[in-house]
Amino acid sequence: MKIQQLDKTYIAGTYGRFPVTLVSGKGSRVVDENGKEYTDLGSGIAVTSFGIADGAWTEAVTRQLTTLQHTSNLYYTEPCVRLAQMLCERTGMKKVFFGNSGAEANECAIKVARKYAAEKKGSENCVIITLKNSFHGRTLTTLAATGQDHYHELFQPLTPGFAHAEPNDLKDMERLLDTLPAAGILLECIQGEGGVKVMEDEYLRGVERLAKERDVLLMIDEVQTGNGRTGDFYAYMHAGLHPDVVSTAKGLGGGLPIGACLIGEKAQNVLGPGDHGSTFGGNPVACAGAVSIIGRVTDDLLEEVRQKGDLIRETLKDAPGVREVTGRGLMVGILPETKSASDVVKACMEAGVLCLTAKDRVRLLPALNIPQEELESALRVLVKALA
Ligand code: PLP
Repeated sequence: MKIQQLDKTYIAGTYGRFPVTLVSGKGSRVVDENGKEYTDLGSGIAVTSFGIADGAWTEAVTRQLTTLQHTSNLYYTEPCVRLAQMLCERTGMKKVFFGNSGAEANECAIKVARKYAAEKKGSENCVIITLKNSFHGRTLTTLAATGQDHYHELFQPLTPGFAHAEPNDLKDMERLLDTLPAAGILLECIQGEGGVKVMEDEYLRGVERLAKERDVLLMIDEVQTGNGRTGDFYAYMHAGLHPDVVSTAKGLGGGLPIGACLIGEKAQNVLGPGDHGSTFGGNPVACAGAVSIIGRVTDDLLEEVRQKGDLIRETLKDAPGVREVTGRGLMVGILPETKSASDVVKACMEAGVLCLTAKDRVRLLPALNIPQEELESALRVLVKALA
């Protein structure tokens, strides 16, 4: 209780926290200050890919931490190079810029698109088209990219040069591309904060075609969907896309701050010395942890993610009190019939299961390796809470 009072006194009031202080955990189990245990179906919002205090991740991080924790980007270090190589080999992308968060990964993507367009077509071609109901971060530029007005209201003026298309509406994307001097398109294949809304594969392929026809960079925000979460390495792979830029963060680090902007062939040489940078970007400890995560996002793990995702959807789709189940793999949105999502989350918490909300939905983002029995018993709690 004391921690919660001190938090109210000293921490800026930006978060609506649950009245729970977490102190420890192991795998998909977390423990609060009173010793109450929970099954974690949120993974710190898609971050702890292999759960809490995962052995291999902890070992990799600790080894690096006690060897060389930071150097600045004036020198070469191995973990960031290894990680970049792994990401490029998994995706066919050519270059990686490391930052510390999803918002920074998107900032980098936006800079790449603007510089690419400025050099090829002139700097007036600066507009980044994103989708309504999207979420791309909290910096003033990524807020401008975010297609939800309520985030914008009291922070004007935001960075200019953004427009928002209707999701899953190719005609609207075409209309904006025909009327605006565009540099790039940035979108989530599944809108996470927007309520786990899935973009149709046909739509995504249509957007890719329009972008290619106009030489406008296609940038996919994989901050929440990436690194195995949806049952493929990146969510764009379900639709067979070949984006020009991919931004990612969250689960990449497994619990330490990291963001990455992956740049494909077309724009691989756009960023030159001095164009971008970050003191902590590519930090060896964060990268060593990420190497241990990415090395274990194997085809077998992805198959497991798909199977567990199917189990969740099968269990919930006809359960009493459920109107709709959306998402892919272990990224799940549940629209309750009559109850509010936050009431369902509260009931789950009381019964020892941590879930999230996203708009009017309950959102599940469990660890990619959550044990089957733990998932099944948490689902029994969730089914009861939804009914
Ligand atoms: N993009 C997406 C799709 C996200 O879900 C988020 C965070 O929820 C962000 C960007 C911003 O990431 P960060 O909070 O690490 O800056």
